[in-house]
Amino acid sequence: MCGIIGYIGNKKAKPILINGLLRLEYRGYDSAGIATIEKDGIKIIKEKGRISNLASIDEINNLEGTIGIGHTRWATHGKPSAINSHPHSDNSKTFAVVHNGIIENYNKLRKFLQEKNYTFLSDTDTEVIPNLIHYYYKEGNNFLESVKLACDDLKGSFALEILCNDYPDNMIVVRQDSPLVIGRSLNENYISSDIPAILSFTKDFFFLNDREFALLSRDSIDFYDNNLNKIDKIVKSIEWNTSSAEKDGYDDFMLKEIYEQPNAIRETIGSKLSENKIFFNDFEIEKNYLENISRIYIIACGTAMNAGLATKATFEKFCKIPTEVEIASEFRYKEPLIDEHTLCIFISQSGETADTIAALKLSKAKNAKTIAVANVIGSSITREADFCIYTHAGPEIAVASTKAYTSQVVLLNILALYFAELLQKVPTKEINQVKKEILELPKKAEITLRNVAEVKNFANVVYKETDMFFLGRGLDYYTACEGSLKLKEISYIHSESYAAGELKHGPIALIENGVTVIGIITNPNLVEKTISNMQEVITRGAKTLVITNQKVNESQFFKVINIPNTNPYLSPVLSIIPLQLLAYYISKEKGLDVDKPRNLAKSVTVE
Ligand code: GLU
Repeated sequence: MCGIIGYIGNKKAKPILINGLLRLEYRGYDSAGIATIEKDGIKIIKEKGRISNLASIDEINNLEGTIGIGHTRWATHGKPSAINSHPHSDNSKTFAVVHNGIIENYNKLRKFLQEKNYTFLSDTDTEVIPNLIHYYYKEGNNFLESVKLACDDLKGSFALEILCNDYPDNMIVVRQDSPLVIGRSLNENYISSDIPAILSFTKDFFFLNDREFALLSRDSIDFYDNNLNKIDKIVKSIEWNTSSAEKDGYDDFMLKEIYEQPNAIRETIGSKLSENKIFFNDFEIEKNYLENISRIYIIACGTAMNAGLATKATFEKFCKIPTEVEIASEFRYKEPLIDEHTLCIFISQSGETADTIAALKLSKAKNAKTIAVANVIGSSITREADFCIYTHAGPEIAVASTKAYTSQVVLLNILALYFAELLQKVPTKEINQVKKEILELPKKAEITLRNVAEVKNFANVVYKETDMFFLGRGLDYYTACEGSLKLKEISYIHSESYAAGELKHGPIALIENGVTVIGIITNPNLVEKTISNMQEVITRGAKTLVITNQKVNESQFFKVINIPNTNPYLSPVLSIIPLQLLAYYISKEKGLDVDKPRNLAKSVTVE
């Protein structure tokens, strides 16, 4: 999971590396390190803890080199410690390597190298890499050939930056299933795990496919395929502005991103919706193909999976195609019933979620058509899938996803309606009604955000609690799931979400005097049913918060937050907003690090 950064140019590398690492810290933050090429060879400085620890080491100020690599770690093999931090070196200190990912066969490789008298200092899987490169190097291969031969032996995922003492003007990068972008500028090049970290230096990016190599110098980049044949790459210009990757005066990225939702939704809708039929740039699917689809799978993890749950009903109602939502880490290890009549949709904000990518590869191998829904342009799932559609939420930095979620829900609804227009299984009038409501969502999200004071007050009342419950029926249940997940992620309060009707089948035993229960009530057909369930918990002493766009008798609840009305299929886009704010303000009241919650990282690029 980790972040990697690299610089090769004429400026001092150290400040650029530290600055880049700070921007990547959301990806992992248990230890950090950098390596630069100095006059007397490669110098590595690394430390346990946050980047600030690393930056405060006196010695780091002596680094003058203009080529360097950096790493902020999210440990997978070996506990967080200075010795396990990256960069790692080989025994002869010829190479320095930073690595994002997991080397699955590292035990075997370690044994092989130990038999050749290599010794190991750390407990990481990574340390086999520089030693393996060295092993091939001393056999007479050059820098690039040695890296390639080492990569041939690696099983698992990796994004690598490699320096070599004997090539003081070069750096090599390569990736397999882990993210890495190359930013080109005048007489200097940047490497990063994501675009925002280096967006202030360049807008021109190259993206590597799996097992492609880049050999960088200050003023050139040569690309090679896995057989070391030279290949051409097209530079892509990224339109995001720099300030969208900054906090813009907000206390935290999460709050900024919550407030960016109206615009993120607006951008995601883009020009896809109009009076006419829905239109996707770069994406077209044939009516004939859709008519022969027997099942849709929506596959994702965490919040992205909740976005799938929140939109499953739109596919079923308007396309009349059975739609299943699956957890990617489960899906990839079962034997899913997939064939050429299955359409698989994969959702991932980063486009780098390891389990989702694996599920995508499995689906392709079974002949399903695949569609990626991602936010990060050029990310792995967008390159693996047959088709790709983007949310245009802009960079999402806070670990807890907010604007990516609402944008995903909007985009998947648009996708479902696009299919529906082709299939014509429901009257056009009904489809148009939802389309019209989608166009009103940005405005309604703005109105929903005006509830902030009420949410903040409620957060103030409940922030010391240790358990909370979220209830809803139909789509409101999925909003309950996402609201509960947000709360867990950033406030560390134990919470559960239940389909309201399930309450009496067990969970109600947990309700006691004073416990907080949050009810989401947006479906006009289910209002009375959910209210009855809320009454059941009130009777047992619960303190209740209701999020609703329906008329309810407010006096029966501790607090009611009203949100704008919309088509029931779209209500998850609005009803989640007060719950995001609630999680945010509870976390703030508790004095926690909202953007970087413990044990979590933004893009889960390991299994
Ligand atoms: N597997 C490597 C380690 O544990 C890299 C982890 C990461 O991607 O941060 O050191």
